[in-house]
Amino acid sequence: MSELEGRVSSSIVDRLRAGPVLGAEGYVFELERRGYIKAGPFVPEVVLDYPDAVRELHREFLRAGADVMVALTYYAHREKLRDVGREGDLEAMNRQAVRLAREVAAEGDALVAGNVCNTWAYDPDDPATGPVVRAMYAEQLGWAVEEGVDFVISETNDYLGEALIAVEVIRDLGLPAMVTLAPTQPDQTRDGYGYAEACRILAAEGAQVVGLNCDRGPQTMLPLIAGIREAVDCAVAVQPVPYRTDAAAPTMETLRSADGERAFPIALDSFTCTRFEMAQFALQARELGVDYVGICCGAGPHHVRAMAEALGREVPASKYSPSMDLHPMFRADVAAKHAAFLHSWST
Ligand SMILES: [Zn+2]
Repeated sequence: MSELEGRVSSSIVDRLRAGPVLGAEGYVFELERRGYIKAGPFVPEVVLDYPDAVRELHREFLRAGADVMVALTYYAHREKLRDVGREGDLEAMNRQAVRLAREVAAEGDALVAGNVCNTWAYDPDDPATGPVVRAMYAEQLGWAVEEGVDFVISETNDYLGEALIAVEVIRDLGLPAMVTLAPTQPDQTRDGYGYAEACRILAAEGAQVVGLNCDRGPQTMLPLIAGIREAVDCAVAVQPVPYRTDAAAPTMETLRSADGERAFPIALDSFTCTRFEMAQFALQARELGVDYVGICCGAGPHHVRAMAEALGREVPASKYSPSMDLHPMFRADVAAKHAAFLHSWST
């Protein structure tokens, strides 16, 4: 029996009812760091070109305690694939992404989520763009359903209008929908709805889970959550980026290095939250009544494990959780020769 077997599968709605569900995303950023995705277009070509790299990251998140394997179809839509000349791979990329997520989810009985995102094709002032977006979502999610997903995450939505199209398509497919907004602006979507109001509308239109993901770090995302929690009866999701955003730079896009250069998207390293900060976030989110506690761009498996353990879980990767009492320099009975080193570490 593998270290990941032995849990009981159920629907996302049942799991949310039973307690917080732990999410882990940020596949595009992490696979870019590992050399499998090109920064700029950020198209997940890795799904077809290096499937083992995708399997491995799914497995790392699974071992760290993620309850959901999210198919890496982020930006695997017609508009983006055209940018990199791979429009012909659209269907293969989408199908393969779901297969990879399913394959690894079965190793630990995680759920599989189909995934769609902002299309860059939507324009609230141009009604002709609505059907274009709908066709893109229907195409991607049609393949996802055929390959087998448990629910769908529609994420990084800038516009309520575009998110509502996703809800319609997901609902028509008979699947639960988790819909999250990208909080790039201080308090409202790009089509002018307060985040809480937008979430209320999404829930009223049938989304089972609503909330925020990406762009903001824990410190600037959590204050927006209380209003959303109050506005809806359904489950609430929060998936911040693990970066130290603050009042002066509330989003990762606005973070600047010491010399004033924009840090987003590939020089954010020095702003990265520690595992302890993300563990703290998980507790704060639970305290606020968040049902789906996750993490987005910048996430590493160490963050996810720390969040899982903060929520009281022991996960497969907990086998290798820190034991600083076994470190030669930090143990209670430090040998004299090591104590001399420790002195130089402290001065
Ligand atoms: Zn993200």
